[in-house]
Amino acid sequence: MVQAKKALAKKSRATVTKTQAENYRNYIGGKWVPSRSRDWIENRNPADTRDVIGRFPASTEADVDAAVAAAAEAFDGWRLTPAPRRAEILFRAGEILMRDKDKYTRDMTREMGKVLKEAGGDVQEAIDCTYYAAGEGRRLHGFTTPAEMPDKFAMCVRQPVGLCGLITPWNFPMAIPSWKLMPALVCGNTVVIKPAEDTPLSTYNLIKACEEAGVPPGVVNLVTGYGETVGARISAHPSLRLISFTGSTETGRTVAYSCAERNAICSLEMGGKNAIIIMEDADVDNAVEGAVWGAFGTSGQRCTASSRLIVHKKVYKKFSAKLVERAKQLRVGDGADRSVDVGPVINRDAVEKIMRYIDIGENEDGATLACGGKQLRKGEYAHGYFIEPTVFTGVTPDMRIAQEEIFGPVTSVIPTKSLDEAIEIANGVRYGLSAAIYTQDVNRAFHAMNETYTGIFYINSATIGAEVHLPFGGTKGTGNGHREAGTQVLDIFSEWKSIYVDYSGKLQRAQIDNK
Ligand code: ADP
Repeated sequence: MVQAKKALAKKSRATVTKTQAENYRNYIGGKWVPSRSRDWIENRNPADTRDVIGRFPASTEADVDAAVAAAAEAFDGWRLTPAPRRAEILFRAGEILMRDKDKYTRDMTREMGKVLKEAGGDVQEAIDCTYYAAGEGRRLHGFTTPAEMPDKFAMCVRQPVGLCGLITPWNFPMAIPSWKLMPALVCGNTVVIKPAEDTPLSTYNLIKACEEAGVPPGVVNLVTGYGETVGARISAHPSLRLISFTGSTETGRTVAYSCAERNAICSLEMGGKNAIIIMEDADVDNAVEGAVWGAFGTSGQRCTASSRLIVHKKVYKKFSAKLVERAKQLRVGDGADRSVDVGPVINRDAVEKIMRYIDIGENEDGATLACGGKQLRKGEYAHGYFIEPTVFTGVTPDMRIAQEEIFGPVTSVIPTKSLDEAIEIANGVRYGLSAAIYTQDVNRAFHAMNETYTGIFYINSATIGAEVHLPFGGTKGTGNGHREAGTQVLDIFSEWKSIYVDYSGKLQRAQIDNK
């Protein structure tokens, strides 16, 4: 039976003609197994909801428990496998991802909606991350340091955390799972992963690559299903020592509470309300291109989306006019069509939320709707979730559209009179993920870099475009102090062990003897 109640909240809600879609399975203990539940989540194309991609198990808590048991059984074997050997398997997974990149890209566009070019970037990020994590297998550096006593040696090594639960969102359906999975594996952990309801296929593809590469049974386990059941059980499972979550701030908080109950490690990556500051000396055309890419790439459904454009009043008119002109030129449509610039949004809930914010911007906040603002429903848009790229001008920093995360193709232009005021506006939100400045003045650029309280900063580029070898994450409401990607992610997925070797042949008491 196709799950009806929960599916209402997701893109599977649309009435469709039944097609012969594949029934997918969970991956537990090295086997593709059916869920204990007989309910399914239909995975549909957000550009045309008549297109059923497949049915994925709406799994139960018992499925999670089975996956955790498999991860527990595999743990000793995997943690005792030398890291360079683990890395060789990951390297093979990277090669498989590379080999099948085109297919994974098409699958992703079909289930998530982003245009092919961007879906290819998402798969490439998973490839980059996999190779990068594989490289760490021959590093995973610890350190030595002088001990305070003679004839004594001190060092530190990384050890795996244990069993890890990974909960991932739909907007980067292969990249984000890989950001968590690959470092977890190279560190010697075993894993239960739950992809978002709307995009299980891309994670399924990632896990298939791991299976083919030779990741041993039980080391990686995939359980699909709803957040409220599968996600909640993962968050609360007593044997999962670590939960790594990316998603909304509200859900992240629930996950964190669950982890706090049992003192589990919890790494959270959540929302953003990212600002680009455009100064009067900026290359305005370049800034407009950056703003268009940052605001409307992935239909604005990025935690790093450039949703606030803080523009010096000397170039405000010129910038706004050019931005609106460019936004109007963007072609909205099915991401599988190479002439399309902006794909659909993920599901009906997203349409409703984004349209509600557009209404708030226009009718409650009193901003000027400079372009866009409409849902597209006719002709080629009739069966998908399409919204016009939308620009609000005359926005003030306190407006809801300038404060709250919309997660759609909507951006706000906020005039400012000085750099310091712009920085204050940029910092004046609950999130702290990414920020950017366009200026030709190196002093201003570095001043803004230093004064914006975010985890990521760009100079003469938009707020999006992270690379896998630099740490990724944010301050304030965006995260809880961890960083993914870079070598910093290893600090999430490994625990430090400090080791003291006393070769003096006698009792030496730290802090007491030799003082
Ligand atoms: P969005 O609103 O963008 O879908 P969510 O934060 O709800 O973002 O979803 C991110 C991930 O968290 C998804 O995999 C989702 O299924 C999962 N999730 C949702 N609710 C819960 C929950 N109560 N506990 C754990 N995971 C959840």
